[in-house]
Amino acid sequence: MVHDEFIYEDCIAYFSMEIGLQNEIHTYSGGLGILAGDMLRSAAELELPLVGITLVSRAGYLYQEIGDQGQQMEHEDYWKPEDWSQSLEAKIAVTIESRKVWVKGWLYLMEGLFENRKLPVILLDTDLDDNNDEDRKITHYLYGGDNTYRLKQEIVLGIGGVRMLRALGFNVRKYHLNEGHSALLTLELLRDHIYPEDEIKWEKMRYDIPAVRDLCVFTAHTPEKAGQDEFSYELFQKTLGDFIDMEILKSLAGEDSVNMTQLALNLSEYVNGVAKSHAETSRELYPGYHIRSVTNGVHPCTWTHESFAELYDKYMKGWRHEPELLVRADQIPDEAIWEAHMDSKKELISIVKKMVKVDMDKNIPILGFARRMTSYKRADIIFSDIDRLKSIADEWPFQLVFAGKAHPKDDEGKGIIKTIHNYIDDLSSDIRIAYLPNYNMDMALSIVSGVDIWLNTPLPPREASGTSGMKAAFNGVPNLSILDGWWIEGCIEGVTGWAIGDEDSDPDNDYESLYRKLEQTVLPMYHNDRASWISVMKGIISKNAPFFNSHRMMRRYGIEAYLF
Ligand SMILES: *Cc1c(COP(=O)(O)O)cnc(C)c1O
Repeated sequence: MVHDEFIYEDCIAYFSMEIGLQNEIHTYSGGLGILAGDMLRSAAELELPLVGITLVSRAGYLYQEIGDQGQQMEHEDYWKPEDWSQSLEAKIAVTIESRKVWVKGWLYLMEGLFENRKLPVILLDTDLDDNNDEDRKITHYLYGGDNTYRLKQEIVLGIGGVRMLRALGFNVRKYHLNEGHSALLTLELLRDHIYPEDEIKWEKMRYDIPAVRDLCVFTAHTPEKAGQDEFSYELFQKTLGDFIDMEILKSLAGEDSVNMTQLALNLSEYVNGVAKSHAETSRELYPGYHIRSVTNGVHPCTWTHESFAELYDKYMKGWRHEPELLVRADQIPDEAIWEAHMDSKKELISIVKKMVKVDMDKNIPILGFARRMTSYKRADIIFSDIDRLKSIADEWPFQLVFAGKAHPKDDEGKGIIKTIHNYIDDLSSDIRIAYLPNYNMDMALSIVSGVDIWLNTPLPPREASGTSGMKAAFNGVPNLSILDGWWIEGCIEGVTGWAIGDEDSDPDNDYESLYRKLEQTVLPMYHNDRASWISVMKGIISKNAPFFNSHRMMRRYGIEAYLF
């Protein structure tokens, strides 16, 4: 069968609600999915035996249009699994609301650097004739619907995923849970690890919890309790029946409700946060658990513009497999760095012109801000004091490029998109501003490589890691960012970029610090001191890219989380 070549050796199963496989496959919404994709891309290149599991999300996350008033309009964002993957023959069932719901799978093959080995990713699909109309849609909408819909999706992902792997003959050594969405897989494993009848001394000891813990690795991504998946016991029982002993479930997932993070924490031997500061925050949130940190990274080739990739091939051959070699980037001639940057900048300028009819000037610095539009990311912070902003732009001209989708139910996020659009009009004679609709992977590469400065202004400690700034690093684009997530580890002031405020500053004053840094340091250097500017470009490549990449991240998971 099509997947036969993958089942002869033990493997690690990587579960994620979203995975950014490629631009045409709409199974991702933001950083979490892109990270999952980068993780698997690195595993493919390093020839590690991983298998990815996610939902097929036929209707995608959302296709974004933006109206004249800056209002986001959402459309379904269908893609065709048959165009990009192969149908698998196995069919399994999960029980939902006492009905059998049938699940099939699609096999997507991820290519590594070397042609001989591909990495399998399985996309779970309930859109089958065997199911009723409602159940057919369970795997349709990424992060769509209500809590009941979400629980059904998590049943298909967690419980269905384990069953599918078994049906296909995969021999799984470890289950890696990327965020709590797939935590129900631990319950399916518990049901499989039951002590023999004569060894059971009392009912609670029925399940071999240590054996399941040994099998599971959990990576947490959310630095606060709100925003984690939680289901009432009433809903849980209604949907899953007596899938597992309730008393045991309560001891593992919480007395008052089924908390997926808590369930994953209790049933995973190896637990980690995604940056050093995020691991610290998580230890405070969950005292008593041993929470390690593996700082995120991005996939080198995927996030390096051609113009820079060619340069790296010339000066640091082998960087694709060993991005550590990029430490030598400070040896590349200044003119070559600048030329590569201008190539990607001109490309972005033409995309901006084509998409939103704004003319950007290649000689004026562009600040970029693109990510999910949600209130804690504070995309509109740069508009906090318009007179001040105008006076800065008057002395030191700059331009702005924005992009990002808001979740359909996130009115604050949509409000931010509107606010930015209002300023595009109000400031049209002072600052050129563009907002590109329908942010996706391809656009992300164009923006992170085509701007001059990468801006990030999250409200600490809510940016668990952030990865788009790392993508900028691979393209020699300095970050100007709040000290949160990865930037606490990546920022060397004036060498790799600049900090906005310091780790103890009052968030209400962040816009002040941003203005000050722009006016006194960043923009004057860009306009008056090209040599220093290029040395910061080389600084972020040579000091950040060798570390903040997914090869290093994957090698760490391989040795520290999977091996023992
Ligand atoms: C990298 C990426 C993100 C993550 O951006 P952050 O700034 O880390 O939140 C989100 N969406 C897309 C399409 C990306 O490529």
